Amino acid sequence: MPNEPIKIDAIINGEKVPTKENAPRENPTHPDEIVGYAPLNTKEETVQAIDAAYEAFHSWKWSDVDERIERMQKAIQKLKDATPELAKLLSREHGKALYDAEGEFAISIMWMEFACNHVKKVIEPEIKEHENGKTIITFDPIGVVSAISPWNYPISLSTIKVAPALLTGNTIVLKPSPFAPLAVSKVIEIIANEFPPGVVNLVHGDAEVGVELTSNPKIAKIAFTGGTKTAKSIMKAASDTIKKMTLELGGNDAAIVLEDFDVNDERAMRRMVISNFLTAGQICMIAKRVYVHRSIYDEFVEKYIEAANKWIRVGDPFNPDVTVGPVNNKRQVEYVKSLVEDAKSKGAKVIQLGKILDPELMDNGYFLQPTLVLGADYHDPIVVEEQFGPTVPILPFDDEKQVIELHNESIYGLTSSVWGEVDHAVKVARQIEAGTTMINTAAVQGLDVRFPFGGVKQSGVGREYGEEGLKAYTETHVINIPKNLELPYIPE
Ligand code: NAD
Repeated sequence: MPNEPIKIDAIINGEKVPTKENAPRENPTHPDEIVGYAPLNTKEETVQAIDAAYEAFHSWKWSDVDERIERMQKAIQKLKDATPELAKLLSREHGKALYDAEGEFAISIMWMEFACNHVKKVIEPEIKEHENGKTIITFDPIGVVSAISPWNYPISLSTIKVAPALLTGNTIVLKPSPFAPLAVSKVIEIIANEFPPGVVNLVHGDAEVGVELTSNPKIAKIAFTGGTKTAKSIMKAASDTIKKMTLELGGNDAAIVLEDFDVNDERAMRRMVISNFLTAGQICMIAKRVYVHRSIYDEFVEKYIEAANKWIRVGDPFNPDVTVGPVNNKRQVEYVKSLVEDAKSKGAKVIQLGKILDPELMDNGYFLQPTLVLGADYHDPIVVEEQFGPTVPILPFDDEKQVIELHNESIYGLTSSVWGEVDHAVKVARQIEAGTTMINTAAVQGLDVRFPFGGVKQSGVGREYGEEGLKAYTETHVINIPKNLELPYIPE
């Protein structure tokens, strides 16, 4: 029995604002079922939300940090209570398996708690007594933050912005992606209810709303997660008023498997498979190309297929035996298919992985059976593009110099992983251009919210998570009280 579609409103200045136009969000498992409707806000409504956040900032910036922590902790408690229901909603609108949706809530809460526990330390003013007097350094809120999030991890990639922005004294206007707008809106509503009107605002829509959120002069900082192409237009839109920015973008994360990796280590093989296919491969930090030392390549591929056939179980996200659900949307299905077809047409071998548990859903839902691509060229699109779906190429390499070059020639550098004997792997990791490198694990399995996360090169600007992810929402203000008030070399 399908559930009744839910309806989401924008939140502007503490009020839920219904809109004339709404967009349906379908269930990727059963695309005929509408999970809910999200607003298509206009430019005027977006401006109202920005104005509300701007007005609220005048007093919110002076709020006491203890009050902000207390409000956030109340929101976290309510979010914990709501998680079982909201994880189901996320799973239905997104397509990720229920355990995966619950995991996303768990990561979000972990981060929000970390942010509450660390914000005081991060914004504590520094007072320095020195030979020329005294200097006070404060870490002040920036202003109105526009937060724009993608569809693949809508809850964690929104709370990763909202928690530090509010705790450091900023106000916010958040816009989620139209491909997964529902559960995140419920999360933002829970948070907004704990804060004064105007401090947390929510609008919906796509590029038009996004452009206002990135060009309006009242926006002081942009916190964006999404594609590199979108980020390029955001940088242009923001340049007129020189906004502060954190950009978390695409990646073409590689896994490098050294000759001393133990192919008979079943747990490690399982971790490798998960690092390629969790969330049907739709994670910025998924391992999207695997390079294996030629001396162990054949054995690796054989054991990999065995491990993949065990772990990958495709079907209904609500089936507790399912590990991989459908892809989130049709556009992504077509894109991933086109990359696999292109590789095939150039002579690559495509091997289907895993079991289909719910065959009756395959034709209508946005399902793709996961695939392994062997024999692709190092520079084929399946290798150098971000697939963002359930397919992965495995390629042999001959020596470390070659594999490090292959890794570093990418325009991206988000995460990466090196698999093998730990000291050896760390030695290789030190030569890799990436924001994070994990040893003997990859993707969210190696994520730690206590430490900064972000990309080098075209994978991003700045860092989220960790204390750095809190400081990114502050401006440094130096108050100098020098003893020597005048410079000796300036003539009378
Ligand atoms: P996207 O760039 O298409 O959309 C992201 C957000 O930007 C959406 O909310 C969208 O509505 C909005 N948007 C679109 N055009 C805009 C414009 N002109 N101005 C302002 N906002 C605009 O990305 P997506 O398809 O939602 O997400 C997938 C991409 O996100 C992948 O490239 C993935 O690697 C990346 N990603 C990166 C990270 C990270 O932490 N580095 C995490 C998750 C996803």
